[in-house]
Amino acid sequence: MPTRALIWLKRDLRMSDHAPLSQAAACDEALAVFVIEPQWLRSPEFDPRHLAYALQCLRPLRDALAARGLPLLIRSGELPEVFAELRRDYQFTHLFSHEETGPGWSYARDRAVARWCRAAGVDWRQWPQTGVVRGLRRRDGWARQWQRRMDAPTLDAPARWRAPSGWSPDALADLGDFGLASPPGLPPAGEAAAWNDLDSFLLRRGRHYRRNISSPLLARDGGSRLSQHLSFGTLSLRQVHQATEARIADLLGAGDTEARAFAWQLRGFAARLRWHCHFMQKLEDEPEIESRNFVRGFDGMREQEFSPRLFEAWRHGMTGYPMVDACMRCLNATGWINFRMRAMLVSFAAYHLWLHWREPGLHLARQFIDFEPGIHWSQMQMQSGTTGINALRMYSPAKQAADHDPRGEFVRQWVPEWGSAAYPSPVVDASGALRRARQRLAAWRNSPQARAEAREVLERHGSRKSGLPPTRRRASAAVASPQLGLFE
Ligand SMILES: Cc1cc2nc3c(=O)[nH]c(=O)nc-3n(C[C@H](O)[C@H](O)[C@H](O)COP(=O)(O)OP(=O)(O)OC[C@H]3O[C@@H](n4cnc5c(N)ncnc54)[C@H](O)[C@@H]3O)c2cc1C
Repeated sequence: MPTRALIWLKRDLRMSDHAPLSQAAACDEALAVFVIEPQWLRSPEFDPRHLAYALQCLRPLRDALAARGLPLLIRSGELPEVFAELRRDYQFTHLFSHEETGPGWSYARDRAVARWCRAAGVDWRQWPQTGVVRGLRRRDGWARQWQRRMDAPTLDAPARWRAPSGWSPDALADLGDFGLASPPGLPPAGEAAAWNDLDSFLLRRGRHYRRNISSPLLARDGGSRLSQHLSFGTLSLRQVHQATEARIADLLGAGDTEARAFAWQLRGFAARLRWHCHFMQKLEDEPEIESRNFVRGFDGMREQEFSPRLFEAWRHGMTGYPMVDACMRCLNATGWINFRMRAMLVSFAAYHLWLHWREPGLHLARQFIDFEPGIHWSQMQMQSGTTGINALRMYSPAKQAADHDPRGEFVRQWVPEWGSAAYPSPVVDASGALRRARQRLAAWRNSPQARAEAREVLERHGSRKSGLPPTRRRASAAVASPQLGLFE
């Protein structure tokens, strides 16, 4: 019986190290499709810049696939209806895709696709493309599994596919087709751009990585800037991991002090590739954490006091705290800000303004071109103090400015009216707000329910650095100490 494959491209917009594309090359016929789902466009995390960026990734991919005989179709519509319609014209026997750890609507859509495949007799096969393990029962040994996956050989792009006759690639959609305006200034997109960014980082830009990533000015060039490539899958995590390890080995082999220092910088980067999957695994294991607290004992802590006025000031960069406002305006305009400043923005919303993390999280998700649901919601809760297991970090905007923008260059760039009468006065008094936040958090964290649940969270989601189970002592130490008042 002939095998006819449909490759469903999602957040994996590359040719190489792509298991569904490789598998399809062995089939009698193959077509690829990217579906622009109205559900995605309607979702509260969506922003037009996400679609614009995806289309920029698709353009070179469509041409590269066509050159090797594989037409890429670009369809818009709900799933599984788009598949049902396609199947009327192309009797595919197999659906190939990567696993996705996405928001609730994508889980529901995957369940509907699975039902449709069963009813239609289509064999749907999915492959992992990160270190996230589907159906994981226990976290013990997760780090070893991650390492095995990342060290496995990468897949070359197939030389050729066989397409059914009469099919050609679709024209690319335009944002205007969906009534959306194109956002300005997107970062470079597509597989070639991703490799350029990886190479320039490993060869040159990463030389002072550990220092540069904390600064909103220096991280733009001195961080890897690979996050959007990883989120849209123009590079696989395994490719990044292997290129990094090879570069570290070369540097160590060179033997001189400068090369060894560069290798040490890249070690810090390599660790973050594991964090990427560690955080995504939390959403994979507990999809509800995109909308409810890790520790249910914190339910009710902030919800009733949500202030729309403070939220609006925060999201428009009008809080009267120059470093907070500069970071927010920079993010809103460019779609990216470095880790430390993301953490500071969330800390300010959670502690200074006492805002529940969900609405701020949605605003940030829309701004981040690299929006990755698993990392995002885990980090939102971690920086808001609702995981029960992480040290609480209350960032002082004044200290962040003094440490990372001592001459005020960054603030002046994004808040030109700073110091004039046009700039708003502070929306809250920082020291009073933080004192209240610490008192309230201590009371909530010390409730018997929160402490009991925190132990469960640690067991289910906590990192196992050694790959071994947490000892009873480590587990109880992590939850017994509220670790309050760590001002950074
Ligand atoms: C509240 C909050 C929300 C975040 N939301 C996202 C998100 O939606 N998408 C996203 O990719 N990152 C997110 N991050 C993590 C981090 O800020 C970005 O990955 C990083 O700033 C991207 O820039 P880079 O590629 O230059 O990072 P680099 O420092 O060069 O790191 C390399 C890669 O490692 C991973 N990584 C780095 N830091 C972390 C981290 N703390 N946790 C998990 N993975 C990490 C990313 O894949 C990143 O691309 C969030 C952080 C916070 C505090």
